[in-house]
Amino acid sequence: MILVSEPVIGENETRYVLDCLQTGWISSAGAYIEKFEQQWASYCGMRHGIAVSNGTAALQIAIGCLQLEPGDEVILPSFTIISCIQAITYNGLKPVLIDCDPDTWCMDVAQIEAKITPRSRAIMPVHMYGHPVDMDPVIELANRYSLKIVEDAAQVHGGEYKGRKCGGMGDISCFSFFANKIITTGEGGMLLTNDDAYAERARKLRNLCFESGRRFMHRELGFNYRLTNMQAAIGLAQVEKIEELVQRKIDIGQYYLNKLRDIPVIQLPVEREWAKNVYWMFGLILDESTGETAETFAKKMRNEGIETRPYFLGMHEQAVFKIEGLFEGETYPVTERIARQGLYIPSGLNLNLNTQDHIIRSIRGILKLL
Ligand SMILES: *Cc1c(COP(=O)(O)O)cnc(C)c1O
Repeated sequence: MILVSEPVIGENETRYVLDCLQTGWISSAGAYIEKFEQQWASYCGMRHGIAVSNGTAALQIAIGCLQLEPGDEVILPSFTIISCIQAITYNGLKPVLIDCDPDTWCMDVAQIEAKITPRSRAIMPVHMYGHPVDMDPVIELANRYSLKIVEDAAQVHGGEYKGRKCGGMGDISCFSFFANKIITTGEGGMLLTNDDAYAERARKLRNLCFESGRRFMHRELGFNYRLTNMQAAIGLAQVEKIEELVQRKIDIGQYYLNKLRDIPVIQLPVEREWAKNVYWMFGLILDESTGETAETFAKKMRNEGIETRPYFLGMHEQAVFKIEGLFEGETYPVTERIARQGLYIPSGLNLNLNTQDHIIRSIRGILKLL
């Protein structure tokens, strides 16, 4: 089976982890953590990096840093991962959804302003599948209405908006380093910020809100969301070759684009003139005229030995939120369509041209376009 993605572990990853094991620095103290934090922050153009146990934890802490009041609102796309909503609701806040752009699959920034209320406090742009959100209008609205921006940059390591790195534009930005992300630590995440107070608060929340004065005296409740030195060791080795990894993703994406461009019944990823798309995952939207849905198409691809993944199911369609009465009666047509017609094909760093050709032939075969 050709998997959607597989991490590629090099010699330095092994060497650095071995160093942790041999020196005994296997917990959440140790030199690799700070090095990883500093190098990732500096790569993205931010001052502080706070490594945490995963991307979901990063989002939850990021929202926690804003210290908002219960019932305050955060605007985000319906088309995203559940982690984004949890980060908001676990902090006692209200998620407010908008639809996404049919071409970039990122939040449709033209829909934000209509959802701003006196309770709005933050916007959470989620860069999607390698392509950045159109950030200037988000930043303009945030300034005009005094809203904070928490960027979710889990899917766009190395992606750029008008020359600025994704994850370098928000008040706080969040990353995941799960095994399928462009750089990985197995499980892991990070927050970046230029704000000293947010950085300090994020470090506190990450580590059970220990106080610097009296040991075991707590004024607030935090979490244990620490990353281990061993995971950071893998991360450091990965950051050191980030340019190569990002270029590899772009090459894979462009090869697919060139070979699939002539098929009118599938919609391919775009790259807006202001964007650097890093093609984290190569997505397709199947036109209804093919008679296929993502689900039927995925089964046929599986028969060819190819794994695919469906697109996100919108947050307003989640059973868990129906029970809670959230998003009742709301509808987001673009999200609903791409959730049914969209899927992504293998995009791992280990793909070679033979495998990509086999995938391309299979797509054409299923669509009877050979
Ligand atoms: C992967 C991902 C996350 C969650 O990260 P985990 O490390 O799996 O918790 C959050 N947001 C987006 C957009 C993601 O792709």
